[in-house]
Amino acid sequence: MSGLGAAIRLRQAGITDFVVLERFHDVGGTWRDNRYPGAACDVPGHLYAYSFAPAPRWRSTLPKAEEIHTYLRDCVTDFGLEPHLRLNSPVDEARWDGTEMRWHIQAAGRRYLSRFLITATGLLSEPHVPELPGLGTFRGAVLHTARWDDTCDFDGKRVALIGTGASAVQCVPHLAASAAALDVYQRSPPWVLPRLQRPVTATERSLYRRSPVLRRLVRTAVYWLRESWLLCFAGPVHRAVSTCVAGLARAHMRRQIPERDLRRRLTPAYPLGCKRVLLSNDYYPALRRAGVELVTDPISEITDSSVVTRAGTARPADVIVLATGFRVDRPAIARRIVGQGRRRLSDAWSDGMAADRNIMVAGFPNMFLLLGPNSGLGHASLTLLLEAQLDYVLDCLARMSRRGLAQVEVLPETQRAYTARLHQYVQRTLWLPHLCRSWYLDPRNGHNTAVWPRSVRSYRAMTRRFSFDGHRVHTQDR
Ligand code: NAP
Repeated sequence: MSGLGAAIRLRQAGITDFVVLERFHDVGGTWRDNRYPGAACDVPGHLYAYSFAPAPRWRSTLPKAEEIHTYLRDCVTDFGLEPHLRLNSPVDEARWDGTEMRWHIQAAGRRYLSRFLITATGLLSEPHVPELPGLGTFRGAVLHTARWDDTCDFDGKRVALIGTGASAVQCVPHLAASAAALDVYQRSPPWVLPRLQRPVTATERSLYRRSPVLRRLVRTAVYWLRESWLLCFAGPVHRAVSTCVAGLARAHMRRQIPERDLRRRLTPAYPLGCKRVLLSNDYYPALRRAGVELVTDPISEITDSSVVTRAGTARPADVIVLATGFRVDRPAIARRIVGQGRRRLSDAWSDGMAADRNIMVAGFPNMFLLLGPNSGLGHASLTLLLEAQLDYVLDCLARMSRRGLAQVEVLPETQRAYTARLHQYVQRTLWLPHLCRSWYLDPRNGHNTAVWPRSVRSYRAMTRRFSFDGHRVHTQDR
């Protein structure tokens, strides 16, 4: 989504000399990879689509994965991006040459020379496969939710699903309906709220298609509604708001689960909002179906045909589904980017990811990160943050062009001051290591390096204009 968004905005700005390197055979990122049954977005479609490419054809208020994937493919056609796309082109290395002031990029046996490098590799793109003893010896199929195998047939199979995050909650009701038996292995329970979702009627879709004003009105209304969710996670009253909303989640659970013991095992022991709050109307009912078991005893090992828990119980399985999330703190692309002084981005980030305004990294000239550190959102649409970052990047490029500059680089002290301010804001949120463990926090230091801790509005204000203050610049001949 970020790579295609950048391509569209570059073209709109009249910049056409660029390529988009995609490691797989198709565009779509998250929405190409997460094809598990039930995959859908938790953010209303009006806010999730790019503002410059509204999606009035989506049929659900919370669009399904395949709808968004189709939308992104349509964007490729509608905005004429095909000539720029290089599919099946995983980047092996991108190396900055300070003399030439160019990036040398190697991808799938080809070399590219570029003045600028934009990374758009996604925050949640590297599946996390847990180190469970014996996992490699399992004889049945092992699937990760983000590497789904459409040919895997669950009919009549005994399925072990590990994890109870956003992916699991969407997948479980579907597997519960098709598998002969489903064991759901829960390490810590999520907070779950009702999923307020409905089909978008044909009349609405037709109105949205014809009326940009209506689309804008609805988008603005949804924007403010979602922005107000931040009250639950950050700011002066978030503890009180979180407690109230947890009351709603408990009521949702009571309505759907009459069994007191099951409710006890499903009730989180951390404040609502510390991890991603989930939305589902069919997860709890699925756990009550015949053949479905919630297992809270920790997994001790996997054998060739079963999952064994600490109490010594071995539950036979034909398929293991890993709904175990993503590696966020050490993005794979960081090992492949070599900046000034031959320093790898992964080395610059050995103590944790950091970037000025979440976009530029000291020691890596002419490089911009999209949806990099602290660019996740716990309360609103990622697309909003992405578009703010695109505004910033394009403003930087335009200003460089006007001043005849060849190189721009953020100063280390600028980045340090920004990161210190960011961590102060994080202290006023629920995303702290003593409250719960989540992908928001870097396990190395417990810092939130994944999620933006303030409003989208404040991020937009911070990125509206690029300023050369706090940056080092060079003209062509230095
Ligand atoms: P996740 O939220 O990180 O959940 C991973 C789950 O796996 C957690 O329950 C975790 O337990 C468990 N787990 C990890 N390692 C384990 C181990 N060694 N043993 C046992 N359990 C283990 O991942 P996700 O569900 O894929 O979701 C990731 C993010 O993707 C979401 O937060 C959301 O931002 C996005 N997403 C969005 C949607 C949507 O819009 N509807 C759908 C799917 C994903 P602990 O909780 O104890 O760590």
